Amino acid sequence: MSALDSLYQEVILDHSKRPVGKGALEAPEGDLTASHHEFNPSCGDEIDLSIAVDPATGAIEGIAWEGQGCSISMASASILSQLVREDRLTIAEAQERIDAFREMIQARGEGEPDEDLLGDAVALQGVSKFVMRVKCAMLGWVALEADLRQVEAQRG
Ligand code: ZN
Repeated sequence: MSALDSLYQEVILDHSKRPVGKGALEAPEGDLTASHHEFNPSCGDEIDLSIAVDPATGAIEGIAWEGQGCSISMASASILSQLVREDRLTIAEAQERIDAFREMIQARGEGEPDEDLLGDAVALQGVSKFVMRVKCAMLGWVALEADLRQVEAQRG
C-alpha cells in the first residue's frame, strides 16, 4: 500500500470512529428543513439525512444524520457533513460538490479528483475501483441531493 493509500485509509477510519454530523438537526428559526431516508439494498446501509437552509440566501446552516451501515457509507456521510459545515455551502455549491463526488466515484479509479471541491472526500477515490461499493460511498450524497430538491421546491 502506498503512503497516500494509507493516509486515505486513516481519514476513512477517523471519520467512521468519530463521525461528523451524526445526531439531531439543529435548525435556526425561520430556516427551511428537509429530511430524506436512503437505503442501499446491496449492502444494507441506511441513512436519514436532514438539512436546514436559510430561505433568503440558500445557505445550508445545518446538516445532521443518523444511520447504520458499513464503514465506507458512514465515513462518506461524515466527510460530506464536514465539507458542508466547514465550507458553509449554499444549495448550488453543495450540488456542485455532489456532482464532482459522483464523477470521481464512478470513474473506476481514473482521473484526478478536484481536492479544492472535495476535501477529505478524495480519500474515497479508491472505492471507485469497486463497483459494489459505489452505492455505499454515494449513500449520504444521494440523500443530501434529495434534501436539496425538497428545499428548492419549498423555496419555489
Ligand atoms: Zn456499504
